[in-house]
Amino acid sequence: MYPRSFHYHRASSLKEAGTMLSQLGDDAKLLAGGQSLIPLMKLRFANPTHLVDLNFVAGTSFIKESHGTLHFGSLTRHAEIENSVIAAKIPILHDCAAGIADVQVRNRGTLGGSLAEADPSGDWAVVLSTLATQVRCLGKKGERTVDLKDFIQDAYTTALTHDELVSEVAVQIPAKGSGGAYLAFKRAAPVYPTASAAVQLTMDGNFCKEAAIALGCVGLTAIKAKDAEAALRGQAISEKTLSAAAEAASAAADPQDDMRGSADYKRTLVGALVRRAIEIAVRRARGEKVEVSHLYA
Ligand SMILES: Cc1cc2nc3c(=O)[nH]c(=O)nc-3n(C[C@H](O)[C@H](O)[C@H](O)COP(=O)(O)OP(=O)(O)OC[C@H]3O[C@@H](n4cnc5c(N)ncnc54)[C@H](O)[C@@H]3O)c2cc1C
Repeated sequence: MYPRSFHYHRASSLKEAGTMLSQLGDDAKLLAGGQSLIPLMKLRFANPTHLVDLNFVAGTSFIKESHGTLHFGSLTRHAEIENSVIAAKIPILHDCAAGIADVQVRNRGTLGGSLAEADPSGDWAVVLSTLATQVRCLGKKGERTVDLKDFIQDAYTTALTHDELVSEVAVQIPAKGSGGAYLAFKRAAPVYPTASAAVQLTMDGNFCKEAAIALGCVGLTAIKAKDAEAALRGQAISEKTLSAAAEAASAAADPQDDMRGSADYKRTLVGALVRRAIEIAVRRARGEKVEVSHLYA
């Protein structure tokens, strides 16, 4: 189906895009990679009267390192993160970027668009919630920085006001001795996962000093599995702690029955993903190079 007709506006700066949003009113929407918005417009689930295109704004796609933090421009494409040597300093970012859909989607879709969309099945919010992540928001009143945990408020709902946009995403590089892994279980590449698990650990030998675990596609937003984190924190990694963390993660999941599987199936699946992701995170924390790819049905 064709989208309903709309007025197209090309912004020449992020500031101008914000001004356009405030002048054009509630029926205006930003266009980044178009990989969520355009399909919704074609299905006529989204019918914006005005589209403000960000794709011609210079300097919005970058990956930089500064003072122990990685900075991503809002229009940085998934594929750029997948192929970036700088982003590879946090291996879990590569796991995520390389597993999103297919190469066409990864070449167009952006980090800023993914976070702004806040799709309950989106990968980035899950992965980034295991790291110290801040979202820079630019609006009429200037810039503000919002912690990711406060940025995503509900399914498809963020802290952005109508005339604000995401200008940058900043991710702190984890301490030495850290390792992370992100695993998603999918029916095919160009579909969202059935369930996913992100694990980021700080280790001292086999002893877990710090743990962050987040679950995807099993709730309205990414779920921080706090009891699973507590099952690892301050413990040696063993069969017993792995099982306790996996069990706690399954209990934290709040999935729905849908075409991807029953709620019970997803709860079991997420426990298995967490267990595997912990094992890979531990190996990476030791300095091993471990390739990770999503698992397919
Ligand atoms: C076939 C297919 C499979 C997919 N599979 C996956 C998957 O497995 N995992 C996954 O995570 N994603 C998946 N996606 C979605 C993809 O990752 C998108 O790139 C992402 O959801 C949105 O990014 P975008 O740049 O395309 O945003 P757009 O579609 O352009 O915009 C999405 C929303 O965000 C708003 N927006 C965009 N940029 C900004 C900004 N800078 N500031 C404020 N608001 C903004 C727009 O107004 C719109 O409301 C899939 C998409 C398709 C088409």
